[in-house]
Amino acid sequence: MIQIRLHNTLTNDLQPLDPVHPGEVRIYTCGPTVYASAHIGNFRTFMFQDVLRRFLKSQGLRVMQVMNVTDVDDRIIQSAAAAGIGIREYTDKYIRGFLEDIDALHIQMPEELVRATDHIEDMVALIEKLQEKGFTYKSEGSIYFRISKFPAYGKLSKIDVAGMQAGARVDMDQYEKDDARDFAMWKAPKPGEHFWETRIGPGRPGWHIECSAMAMKYLGDTLDIHTGGVDLAFPHHENEIAQSEGATGKTFVRTWLHAEHLIIEGQKMSKSLGNFYTLRDLFARGHKPSTIRFLLLSVPYRRQLNFTEEGIVQARNSTERLRNFVTRLRTAQFPPGSNPETEKRIAQAENDFDAGLADDINTAMALAAIFDLVRDVNTAMDRGAFLQQDAPRAVAAMEKFDAVLALLEDDDDDKLAKLGFSPEKARMPAAEVDALIEERQAAKKRRDFKRADEIRQNLADSGILLEDAKDGSVRWKYK
Ligand code: AMP
Ligand code: ZN
Repeated sequence: MIQIRLHNTLTNDLQPLDPVHPGEVRIYTCGPTVYASAHIGNFRTFMFQDVLRRFLKSQGLRVMQVMNVTDVDDRIIQSAAAAGIGIREYTDKYIRGFLEDIDALHIQMPEELVRATDHIEDMVALIEKLQEKGFTYKSEGSIYFRISKFPAYGKLSKIDVAGMQAGARVDMDQYEKDDARDFAMWKAPKPGEHFWETRIGPGRPGWHIECSAMAMKYLGDTLDIHTGGVDLAFPHHENEIAQSEGATGKTFVRTWLHAEHLIIEGQKMSKSLGNFYTLRDLFARGHKPSTIRFLLLSVPYRRQLNFTEEGIVQARNSTERLRNFVTRLRTAQFPPGSNPETEKRIAQAENDFDAGLADDINTAMALAAIFDLVRDVNTAMDRGAFLQQDAPRAVAAMEKFDAVLALLEDDDDDKLAKLGFSPEKARMPAAEVDALIEERQAAKKRRDFKRADEIRQNLADSGILLEDAKDGSVRWKYK
C-alpha cells in the first residue's frame, strides 16, 4: 500500500499516517455552528475533509469520522430568543440546510454527525474529571480551565503563552477570570437565556468542551486525525488539547490538519465581515453544484483559495472536459484490439493520481495526472492508436479517480431541482444573460431607453431579476 503523508500542525512537518487501530482511521472534524447558513469558505474546509476521507477509503482503509454540530452558543441563544423560539427549533432549520448543501456538493456524510445539545451529560462528566484533577476553578457560577496547570499549552499553535496579555480577550466570553488566558468550559446562566440544570450547576457548555467530550466519546482518548480551518488552531484546538490531555494524561490527537482559508478580494470570507456567498447564492446565479465542487477541491488544502468568477468558469470547463471525455470513451467507435502502450499510460496516471493525494492530499497533482491522461488519450484517439479494448480500461480508471473526486455523475439539474432552483437546461444560459445586460447598458448609454426597457422585460419574462446598483453596475439572478 502507498505511504500516505500528512502535514501535522503539531510538528509542522509531513508525517506518515500510522493509525492507532491498524486499518481504521479515526477522524474528528469541527463542524458548522448553526446560527446561519454555511458559506462557501466553510465548504472549502468541509470539501477538503471529504477528499481526505474518500482517498483514505480508496486506499482500503476504514474511516470513522465524527463531525459535531455546534447548536448552542451565544449567538444561537440570542437569535433564538429574539425569534421567540427554542434553540432546537432555531438550529433545526440550519442543520437541514447544511445537510442539503453537503448533499448537493456530494460531500459524504460522516459516520457520526453529533449535536452538542445531545451531549451535555458527556461534557459535564469531562468537566467533573478535570475538577477532580485540579485543572479548574469556579467564578460567578462559571467553571474555567486554569491554563497555568497545563504547561504544554500552546504546543499546537506555537502561541507565546507567557506573552498573552493580561486583560486581552482570547475568546468571546466576558466573565470574571483569574487569568485572561483561562477559558470557560461551563458558563453561568444569564437571565432569560437557555440553560441546563446539571450536577456542576446551572448553565451551558462552552464551545471547546463540546468538541473534547464528543471526540473522545466516539473515537477514544487518542484520535488519528483532527481537522478544521486554520482559524481554529488557536484558541479552539489548543483548548481542546488542554481539556482532553488534562483529563486523560494521553495524547489527544496524533495528526492535526488545518485547511487554509478561502479568500475573496484579499480577505477571508466570513460571516462577520459580510463578504460571503452561500452555496444557494451561487446556485441562484446559475452555477452548478459540480462546478463549485471542482473549484473547492482543486486547490490543495494548505494553500489559500482565491475565489473569483474566472475560477468558476475554469472549474466549469474542467468538469465538462472530464465528463465529455468519459462520454467519448463510452460512445465512440474505436478500431478493434488493445494497445499495450495505452495500458501503460493509464497505469502511470493511476500511480500519479495516488501519489499526488498521498503527498498531503495534493489535489492539484492528482488533477494534473488526470488531465494529462485525458490529453494523451484524446491525442491517441485522434491518431487511431486508441483501440476498442482500451476504452473499458480507461473508463475504469476514470471511475477510480471519481471515487475520490465525485464529479462525473451528471446530476446537477436534479440537485438544483431538489433545492428549488430551476434546472439549468430550462433556463437562459448565464453567458446570454450577461450579453443582454451588456446590450442594455449600451442602450442606456446612448439614451435608447425603449430598447433598454425591452431587454429588461425580456429578461424578466425569462425569469431573470436585475438589480441596478448605485454605481451603475448590474447584478442579476434567476428567480
Ligand atoms: P464555523 O461554522 O464558523 O464554526 O466554521 C466551520 C468550519 O469552516 C471551520 O473549520 C472553520 O475553520 C472553517 N472556515 C470558516 N471560514 C473559512 C474560510 N473563509 N475558508 C475556509 N474555511 C473556513
Ligand atoms: Zn471543534
